[in-house]
Amino acid sequence: MRRIGRRAKILAVVIVYFLTCSTVFLVRYAKDGSGWVVHPANQNVYANGELKEGGTILSADGTELFSLENGYADGETLRKATLHAVGDKSDSINTGVIKTNKAKLIGYDFINGVFQPFEGGTQITLTLDADTCRAAYNALGSRKGTVGVYNYKTGEIICMVSKPSFDPENVPDLSGKAYEGVYVNRLTGGVYTPGSVFKLVTAAAAIDTIPNLYSRTFTCKGGTTIGGEWIKCSGNHGNVDFATALAHSCNAAFAELSVEIGKETLAEYAAKSGVGKQFSINGVDTSMGKFRVENAAAAELAWAGIGQYTDLVNPMGYMIYMGAVANGGRAVTPYYIKEIKTAYGLPQYFHFPSKEGRMLSEETAASLKSLMRNAVKVEYGESGFSGMELCAKTGTAEVDDGAPHAWFTGFLDREDTPLAFVVVVENGGSGKGTALPVARTVLQTALKAFE
Ligand SMILES: [Zn+2]
Repeated sequence: MRRIGRRAKILAVVIVYFLTCSTVFLVRYAKDGSGWVVHPANQNVYANGELKEGGTILSADGTELFSLENGYADGETLRKATLHAVGDKSDSINTGVIKTNKAKLIGYDFINGVFQPFEGGTQITLTLDADTCRAAYNALGSRKGTVGVYNYKTGEIICMVSKPSFDPENVPDLSGKAYEGVYVNRLTGGVYTPGSVFKLVTAAAAIDTIPNLYSRTFTCKGGTTIGGEWIKCSGNHGNVDFATALAHSCNAAFAELSVEIGKETLAEYAAKSGVGKQFSINGVDTSMGKFRVENAAAAELAWAGIGQYTDLVNPMGYMIYMGAVANGGRAVTPYYIKEIKTAYGLPQYFHFPSKEGRMLSEETAASLKSLMRNAVKVEYGESGFSGMELCAKTGTAEVDDGAPHAWFTGFLDREDTPLAFVVVVENGGSGKGTALPVARTVLQTALKAFE
C-alpha cells in the first residue's frame, strides 16, 4: 500500500510538471510563434540569410513590387521609389512591409505554421500607386526629401516616397554622405523646420481668438519690430489684410499675430494640429515634431509662430493636418497596407478606416480652406493645377546647414479626387520655386489613377 501511494505521488508530480510545460509552450507559441518562424536560423524559411518561400507585395494598381520568388519589381526607379514601403532585405527600414509583416508574407499562420497546402503564397496589397511613386521619385531629382499623397476621405496613401533611396537588387556602398539617413522613411520618420507652412496653425489660432481679425490691417515694412528685434519678411508688403497676409506669407503680420495670440494658446493650437503627436500608420509610429515656447522671449515667440525658432514638424503629421482642414476638422488616419490574403484566398487582414480626434472646428477648417484657396489664386497661380481646386501653402524654412528646406502642402477641394499632400525638399531653396513644381507633377500623375 505504502509503495503504491509513493508511486502515485511521483506520477502526479510528473503529470503536473508536463501540463505546466505544455501550457507555457502553447501560450508562448501563440504569442511568439510568428517571431520564432521568421528567426534567421530557421532553415525552412531562410536560405543563405534570405527569405526563400511565400508571398508577394503588390501596389494598388496590381504592379508586383516584391515577391519572395522573383525579388523586387521590374525597373530600377520603381524599386527605389517604393523601397521605404516595401522594405530592404536587412530589415533596416521600419516601415518596410517585408519587416512589419514578415510572418504573414512567408505564409505563417497559427494552425498550419509555414505549411502551405496551395501554390502562390500570401498576397499583400498596398494602397500605393506605382506611377505616382515613380513620378515623385523622379521629380525630387538628386535632392533629399519626401513626397506624401493620400486620399483624405478613405485614408489610402497613394504616394510615400523618401529620398535618398537605393536599388535593393543592387545595393551600393551606403556609407557616404549621399546616403545619410537612407533607411529613414522621411515621410513618417523625418522632422523638419516647417517655415511658413506653420502659419496655417497660427492662422487657426488667430481665427478662433482674435476679434475683428478680418477687418484688421497689418503693416509690413519688409519686416516689423517685436520686442526690440527686427523680424525680417521675405517681401515688403505694405498694408495688408489677413487673407492677403497669408497669401503673401507676410512674416510681419504673423509675427504680430503670434505675440497677440500668446504662448499658451499658440502651443495649444500646435498640439491640436498634431505637432508633437505620434501617429500610428499601420502600426508604425511617426516621429514627433515639437513646438516649445514656454521660455521664449517676444521675438522668439514671433519666430515660433512663423515656423522658425525651435519648431519641428513631421511631414506625415502635417499631411494629416491638411486632411483635417480638407475634411471639416477631422482627419481620416492614413494607411498603406490595404489587405493581406492567404494563398487560398482567405483575407488575413483587412483595413478598417479610423479617424483622428478633432483638430479644428468645422468653421475654422472652412476658413482655412478658403484662405489656402485664395493663396493659390493670388500668389502661386493655377498653371498645371487647373480644375484641381487646389488649396495650398508654401514654406521656405531657414536652417543652419545650407539652403532653406522647401515645403509645399495642401489638398484638392474636390469630392471625386480628395487628395491631400506634402512635399519637403531638404535644402531645396524656396517652397514656391522647388517644392511646388514637384507637387504639380505628382498630383497630375496621381489624378490619372482616378480616370
Ligand atoms: Zn511682409
